[in-house]
Amino acid sequence: MGKIISGKEISQALRAKIKAEAATLREDSGIQPGLAVILVGNDPASQIYVRNKQRACEEVGFHSQEYKLSENATEEQLLDLIGVLNKDNKMHGILVQLPLPDHIDPQTVIQNIAPEKDVDAFHPINVGKIMIGDYDFLPCTPAGVMELIDSIGVEISGKHCVVVGRSNIVGKPMAMLLLHRNATVTICHSKTRNLAEICASADILVSAVGKANFITADMVKEGAVVIDVGMNRDADGKLCGDVAYASVEPKASYITPVPGGVGPMTITMLMQNTLRAAQLKQSRTKGSAE
Ligand code: NDP
Repeated sequence: MGKIISGKEISQALRAKIKAEAATLREDSGIQPGLAVILVGNDPASQIYVRNKQRACEEVGFHSQEYKLSENATEEQLLDLIGVLNKDNKMHGILVQLPLPDHIDPQTVIQNIAPEKDVDAFHPINVGKIMIGDYDFLPCTPAGVMELIDSIGVEISGKHCVVVGRSNIVGKPMAMLLLHRNATVTICHSKTRNLAEICASADILVSAVGKANFITADMVKEGAVVIDVGMNRDADGKLCGDVAYASVEPKASYITPVPGGVGPMTITMLMQNTLRAAQLKQSRTKGSAE
């Protein structure tokens, strides 16, 4: 195996496994995992993400349904739809594509999704469960990063892991998952002093900032594992990560490319969570019938 960690290949293997497990669930109990994807407005990037999620559902044999609301839809209309989907037995996962229009509060929306259908793991109950290390769903992007690190067989325990970025969807849960695996974790953000120095002491460096060429070679220790979560456009409009790839790659022992690194893993972990939601529903139904 080379030093480039191919999220594309790893995600293909995982999707094959998810597809097989979904087929078994269907044979054993007649349940087909179902994902409801809600899109509010016409954001072009969101439309692409939603389409990709639906394609992934088809690929692994899930049922999926897109619910489109107009840019002017009210928060109440969105909450009503979520209320209906919370009770829909065919839908095991509900995903509201973010960002939402300004007049809708994302936290209110997330809190109205039934926690057992919250396959993004953004609901405060699921966030709390992740914090204490007893969870049903892992947030998709950090979970995908853990799969990538595990794929190279690198020991995480005892290592110094630096996470740059502290958002609720990537940086914070990322740090928590690494901590659960006994890493010593440093979380950096825009107010961090000596950022370059801290990054250069990382055995495993995860960047989730959202700025092209942010992580330069001087910020990377020789032999470090470098995971690039960033999704940015360079001056020519080409998709790129946070890491100045050409200069960092020679120093890294392993590195993820953009595209083809973390990106494909995020959707795969969403499929994993939807399957898990369906499996948990099945075991609850079985439990209550016994
Ligand atoms: P946010 O904008 O919510 O968070 C960015 C973080 O970077 C913040 O914590 C911010 O610090 C920090 N930051 C910004 N500037 C600096 C700086 N100069 N020095 C140190 N830290 C800085 O972004 P997200 O977490 O949502 O996403 C991060 C990136 O990952 C984006 O490019 C996004 O597109 C990508 N992404 C990719 C996914 C994938 O599937 N590959 C999925 C999700 C996101 P502060 O908190 O102080 O402002």
